[in-house]
Amino acid sequence: MPTLAPIADDVHAIALTPRSGVNAYLLGDVLVDAGMTFQAGALLKALQGRAVSALALTHAHLDHAGGARKVATTLGVPYWAGARDAEAASTGVAVMAGGLPGPLAPLAQRIGNFPGHPVARELVEGDEIGAGFVVLDTPGHSPGHVSYWREADRTLVCGDVLNGMHLLTSVKGLHTPPAKFTPNVADNTASAKRLAALRPARVLFGHGPAWTDPDALERFAAGL
Ligand SMILES: [Zn+2]
Repeated sequence: MPTLAPIADDVHAIALTPRSGVNAYLLGDVLVDAGMTFQAGALLKALQGRAVSALALTHAHLDHAGGARKVATTLGVPYWAGARDAEAASTGVAVMAGGLPGPLAPLAQRIGNFPGHPVARELVEGDEIGAGFVVLDTPGHSPGHVSYWREADRTLVCGDVLNGMHLLTSVKGLHTPPAKFTPNVADNTASAKRLAALRPARVLFGHGPAWTDPDALERFAAGL
């Protein structure tokens, strides 16, 4: 049963699996990401009694957008996504990186699909979303992947530009997302270097616990 954990001023983390394996965040009253389709009910329970004004994605993949339709319709809030991910979020058909070969390709695509929902606002670089956070355009893991940055206390919500854990072992550490699920690895590397150069005091990942060591982050990004 996920709960809201305060993690910075007016910021809560909502771990949808043990060890922060899949995360959503509440930035002021803006919910960021909605987990997998089957996690929507638990996420809604965790949000009970909380004001939520919008659901904003980091990117349109099934482990972030899967629960979006149920969460947005149940709460009656608008759905926001990065402009170049808006079509994928609306249709539920993610942009994939090759996937399985030949006759299995349509199967791989179907596995990556999720319930689509109309996007009411297409987010672009510099947009303010609330609680002092602005949109950073960080493409690569998906074409319209965005991150959310608050300069005042150097809090960064980075989605899957970087993972804060090994996805198979769930051991904490910095990793790039699997190339198989990253249509443009070069763009994602540039996005990771850009985010590391901000020297965030805390990085809040789609997968993994918060990272609070900007020096180690810079060293990791320099090695990419
Ligand atoms: Zn993810």
